[in-house]
Amino acid sequence: MIIDFERLKEISDIHGDSFYLLDSKKFEQNYKELQKAFRDIYSNTYIAYSYKTNYIPKLCKIVNENGGFAEVVSDMEYQIALKIGVESQNIYYNGPYKNPSAVEKLLLDGGIVNVDSHYELEIIKIIASKYPENLLSVGLRCNFDINDGVKSRFGFDVESEDFVDVINLINDINNIELTGLHCHFASRYIETWTGRPERMLNLISKYFNEPPKFISVGGGLFGKMAPSLKEQFDFDIPSYEDYAEVVATQFRDFFEDMEFSKQPKLIIEPGSALVGDAMKFAAKVINIKDIRGKKMATLAGSIYNINPTLNKKNPPVKAYHNVENEDKLRMYEDIDLGGYTCIESDYLYRGYTGEMSVGDYMVFENVGSYSVVLKPPFILPNFAVVDYNEETNSIEIIKHRETFDDVFRTYEF
Ligand SMILES: *Cc1c(COP(=O)(O)O)cnc(C)c1O
Repeated sequence: MIIDFERLKEISDIHGDSFYLLDSKKFEQNYKELQKAFRDIYSNTYIAYSYKTNYIPKLCKIVNENGGFAEVVSDMEYQIALKIGVESQNIYYNGPYKNPSAVEKLLLDGGIVNVDSHYELEIIKIIASKYPENLLSVGLRCNFDINDGVKSRFGFDVESEDFVDVINLINDINNIELTGLHCHFASRYIETWTGRPERMLNLISKYFNEPPKFISVGGGLFGKMAPSLKEQFDFDIPSYEDYAEVVATQFRDFFEDMEFSKQPKLIIEPGSALVGDAMKFAAKVINIKDIRGKKMATLAGSIYNINPTLNKKNPPVKAYHNVENEDKLRMYEDIDLGGYTCIESDYLYRGYTGEMSVGDYMVFENVGSYSVVLKPPFILPNFAVVDYNEETNSIEIIKHRETFDDVFRTYEF
């Protein structure tokens, strides 16, 4: 069963004029499909889900239940992983700013810390000397040029003296083991992907006698999109299989002659690629006006709910008409759908064409990545998230809408 106006109205009556619709089934399907695409070529592939992209605990649990890992970049996210019962050896702690006590706890519990800079290594050296009986597992974030026109600020420049020094330093300490190498670049274009496994595998040849336990090539993969979104890009959007072809094939060829137990885990760290199309946002149409010939609607949602990175793309959108208001239904051409904030540029969609009336719900698709996690508490607290199951037409509350207290608890009055 596909959602209709009546169902949206029912959800809205409980949870407010705007709310997110999660599709956790879709997320799980994406997870399995992406994993299969890679495993069909290189069977020792694992998904470490990027928590920061959308850390809804239910999603993190789905990953854990399917044998996936947690890719965290803060102690806050590390705590989510612990809270939902992820085993420490399945937690990869990345990012440029790490909490020393979280680093210590994770390392002592057998998790992996991917070192981003020298200052982290100093922290880890102290932990190592404090606990000489524990073997600590670290990886190194590698930085090289992937021809995307960006000079990344993360990790160690693999062509520098620094890199060699860091490897030597780690090898000199008995109870720190360099168990893997890691890289991540934000660019999603397929052309920028060829070099990632290539450079990583070169580093393995150069610096490791035996292959390490893991090689992580990071995230930065496109997810699935509706045609209306795809056509706003001036290049083809790669599929899961396209990425697997480029990445997993190089791993397969490189480790072909090695017995399976020695082949390293290939880790990918998708966020957007799994969750982008697994969430929608429903916003009620509050009013429609005409300003000097320009039609504009005000919605009970904002661009900051669906696209806080303001990437200028129009999301796929569907209107669900208010059945009680059918006589007011009008055809609009090139109407802009504005948000509830007082920012002039707050438009969820520019140039919409279709029928609309006040009280309708506009449902925006492909809003799963960098939305709930990045929405500022500007003008309104954040909205509810409900998991909507299309097969059973049932809903499950995932996050309650925020209240005044949620936003102001930390302020002194
Ligand atoms: C953000 C991030 C990811 C996921 O990126 P997407 O944009 O969701 O593809 C993966 N790994 C690291 C280290 C990250 O910082």
